[in-house]
Amino acid sequence: MAILIDETKCNGCGLCDHNCPGDIIHMDAVSGKPLVVYPDECWYCGACRIDCPENCIKIIFPLISL
Ligand code: SF4
Ligand code: SF4
Repeated sequence: MAILIDETKCNGCGLCDHNCPGDIIHMDAVSGKPLVVYPDECWYCGACRIDCPENCIKIIFPLISL
């Protein structure tokens, strides 16, 4: 999983869902927390992490991109 979200810190604001250009993150209607629904389609742009107000998103970059 390229995107790790710390649900204990997440406030459910939905910005990561809104900002992801690939529509990879969706808010779960039951829990109110984000789900990474298409992890294999993430291209590590960082948009989800940059604006997270709780700083609870961690991106695991593949070795080939480092
Ligand atoms: S790194 Fe970019 S493509 Fe990947 S989930 Fe975050 S916003 Fe979407
Ligand atoms: S932007 Fe951060 S605080 Fe807001 S829903 Fe996404 S992970 Fe949670």
